[in-house]
Amino acid sequence: MEELFQLYYECSEVSTDTRKITKNSFFIALRGENFDGNKYADQAIEKGAKYAIVDDESVANGKTKFHVNNSLHFLQKLAQYHRNTFSIPVIAITGTNGKTTTKELTAAVLNKKFNILFTEGNLNNHIGVPLTLLQLNKNHDLAIIEMGASKLGDIKELTDIANPTHGIITNIGHAHIEGFGSPENIVKTKTELYSAIKENKGLLFYNSDDSVLANKLPASCPTQTYGTTGTADIIGEILELSPMLSFQWKTGTYMSPQINTQIIGKYNFYNMLAAICIGNHFEVKQNDINTALAEYKPSNNRSQLEKTSYNTVILDAYNANPTSVKSALENFAEISSENKLFVLGDMLELGENTNQYHQEVIQLAKSLNLQGVFVGNIYSSLAKVNDILAFDSTETAKDFFATALPKDNLILLKGSRGIGLEKLIEIL
Ligand code: ATP
Ligand code: MG
Repeated sequence: MEELFQLYYECSEVSTDTRKITKNSFFIALRGENFDGNKYADQAIEKGAKYAIVDDESVANGKTKFHVNNSLHFLQKLAQYHRNTFSIPVIAITGTNGKTTTKELTAAVLNKKFNILFTEGNLNNHIGVPLTLLQLNKNHDLAIIEMGASKLGDIKELTDIANPTHGIITNIGHAHIEGFGSPENIVKTKTELYSAIKENKGLLFYNSDDSVLANKLPASCPTQTYGTTGTADIIGEILELSPMLSFQWKTGTYMSPQINTQIIGKYNFYNMLAAICIGNHFEVKQNDINTALAEYKPSNNRSQLEKTSYNTVILDAYNANPTSVKSALENFAEISSENKLFVLGDMLELGENTNQYHQEVIQLAKSLNLQGVFVGNIYSSLAKVNDILAFDSTETAKDFFATALPKDNLILLKGSRGIGLEKLIEIL
């Protein structure tokens, strides 16, 4: 396989999609559920790819199209080989919630001092991670790699490829339970990162307020910590949630000024502290850290604040799982605003205890004295017993709001991607 790696270095970049082939690129034919990249190898070469790697022997010609046993495996091995030609720090970020936000914030901070490579968008899986690593070049000082997981062993697979020197688990909560089988397996999978960092004699960043994470730390592995109490290396304090987060942090004798962010949510406070902790470790100037965080603006329906025609909306319709919904509700309860209304959509992919998780959210909303409505089949099936207002789809919720439009409210929209709560924005 190694001799085929050298072909990559004759090319400009890797491509796995014939719709985006560039001249002189290196095409790797992957197989998906509904497609077989091998069928596109000829097209890739016609469109300008210099070589194609295929795992269907009948397609190979040994001149431009080369056969391997498994193209995906080849892509991963090539990425691992390429990464190991650079002796730079690679920071791996995993966790149930907040990976992308922490990655973006950390990138903004480290960008003040270094030339960094970081995961684009949410390309955090067994294909996205190698494709990101293959973009490493000699101008990069450092890389930040987001790692997602949906089953046991996923993080080990990704750390084997990326060989990280630094790691952070943002938190461990409940998501994708269908794939993991049990909550214990989620903990096991995330902590595969800890094992990899220990093996690499690297360093871990962690939230010392989070007892689940602290209890799983490997012995004798260097750490840098962030949190709200005295023992953390970076100590932060929330000053305001109005609803934008303002906070302050200190380390040693340094005390920051008040940092007014453009992001909402108490949970983002920890994502901010994580970025500070990493930036501080890599000796980014404190003022630069503060500016980077104050300038950061979220996108992609994550914790965005939108002024609509009649209301102000906290748009958090990008994803939802029990942990993130609970933290969103708790945060919402703490915002001082006269009229508040939540719209919560179903949380998908939760496996056999789905109803229980939804039930817990309903109870929490009630105990926090919050007013709102629920959207989706799961909440609808629980409406009667819980005496809540629920609609089976975003469409029916939209019809309801058309006749009973709230005005001058602060509205929280949070639900799984599949529920599409962002469609409510146009009417609110
Ligand atoms: P994905 O698994 O889709 O890649 P992610 O881990 O990258 O998700 P983000 O995209 O950063 O997470 O954030 C998604 C949502 O998770 C946010 O909009 C917010 O509701 C919630 N969230 C973010 N950070 C935290 C946190 N530290 N604790 C709890 N919930 C959080
Ligand atoms: Mg993400």
